[in-house]
Amino acid sequence: MRRVLVANRGEIALRVIRACRELELESVAVYSEADEPALHVRRADQAICIGKPAARRSYLNHDALIDAAQRSGADAVHPGYGFLSENAEFARRCETAGVIWVGPPASAIEQMGDKAAARALAERSEVPVVPGSDGAVAPENAVAAAEHIGYPVMIKAVGGGGGTGIRVARDQDELDRGANEAAREAEAAFGNPALYLEKLIERPRHVEVQVLADQSGQVIHLYERECSLQRRRQKLLEESPSSALTPPKREEMAAAAVRLTEAAGYRSAGTVEFLLDGAGGFYFIEMNTRIQVEHPVTEMITGVDLVKEQLRIAAGESLGISQASIVPDGAAIEFRVTAENPDENFRPSPGQVTRLELPGGPGVRVDTALYDGYSIPPFYDSLVAKLLVWGRDRDEALARGRRALEEFVIEGIDTTIPFHRRMLDDAGFRRGDYHTEYLSELSLT
Ligand code: ADP
Ligand code: ADP
Ligand code: MG
Repeated sequence: MRRVLVANRGEIALRVIRACRELELESVAVYSEADEPALHVRRADQAICIGKPAARRSYLNHDALIDAAQRSGADAVHPGYGFLSENAEFARRCETAGVIWVGPPASAIEQMGDKAAARALAERSEVPVVPGSDGAVAPENAVAAAEHIGYPVMIKAVGGGGGTGIRVARDQDELDRGANEAAREAEAAFGNPALYLEKLIERPRHVEVQVLADQSGQVIHLYERECSLQRRRQKLLEESPSSALTPPKREEMAAAAVRLTEAAGYRSAGTVEFLLDGAGGFYFIEMNTRIQVEHPVTEMITGVDLVKEQLRIAAGESLGISQASIVPDGAAIEFRVTAENPDENFRPSPGQVTRLELPGGPGVRVDTALYDGYSIPPFYDSLVAKLLVWGRDRDEALARGRRALEEFVIEGIDTTIPFHRRMLDDAGFRRGDYHTEYLSELSLT
């Protein structure tokens, strides 16, 4: 492996380019017509325009990306997160074109991308799942399935992702309405209206386990990330360790994640997501077969560079790290900064950055593709920066978070920085006492 095409944009494209540099791999950026001034274009060794601003005419265009790989002589493709990162068809196209896919085998993407199939594999691997339907549920069988599980239930899209295609139903009326809405939403977003049902876990914690697997099938885990601070089922802030886990629970959950990863024939970096209920039980919900937005949280407490590991594994190297060598140290928190106004219901706020001052100092990391004067195009995800802080313990991380958010200045657009400052003053959050419904309940009061 010598030259890697980075099939993404924004901070994650920069993240991959940085890993390539450190491994002395050449990087090839791709960009849409709207992204000519973007930082990833300048930071890569070469850059190729792949089409119009709309993602389906550029970053999601299989032909344009394969063509760019071939024209640039790239021998590998790193998809980042979002876009084509969980697209088995594209992963297979890369393999047939003789280009290394920096990710799991297409078969593992397919199996885990079908969330009902992933649940079935978890059950066969003795990994607890949320009680729910056996596989996908046809619309005419939904009522019987919900009654069998018992209300309230969660209606979920088999092909879902990014919090899309999910509805809560507390009775049959809500089930009829919710199933219709979820199917329509899922059809539009994933081209697949199939649904399944799960028991609704009230006020759960979302805790996920990072795994790495090499070509020889060796699997290790890198402990957990607490991702319960969510808005509309999307993560706003993540941290590690999770204050919801006792040491034995942590080991049990990590072992379950490793079992499932082995059963899936998985390779590369991946994340096994679980929900925790109030009684201390944990239940598998899905596996994300890609690098995640919040991966730096794990990098900060383990010192492992997950993107470099992905590249090494893709090149056929075996894992250079043993399970015993992973000793988590301290506490880390990630604040997702998006171009949205938190005081106006998170209304998107693209536009020109007229002033940018990044925080720094001990224990601070900023992953961003912003620069002074940059104009954020309106076509893509609203994430513009990730602020990470590390401390020897959670209190030190919280203090650093507060200090770094004070230093962080982005003018010209609205961002979620003020929201994060307020979270750091919230007593429940400071105690580590929160769940996935926490924010929606806060805004009611
Ligand atoms: P993470 O757990 O890494 O935060 P998210 O679910 O927030 O993952 O998704 C990361 C990015 O990928 C977001 O930009 C989200 O919109 C996008 N994304 C996630 N799943 C899908 C999917 N199935 N199809 C398209 N985009 C997705
Ligand atoms: P996605 O693929 O969109 O990320 P997930 O299955 O990971 O979907 O669920 C996203 C979020 O929805 C979870 O983090 C959690 O907040 C909520 N959720 C999912 N399943 C349940 C459930 N059975 N009970 C309660 N909340 C759930
Ligand atoms: Mg998820």
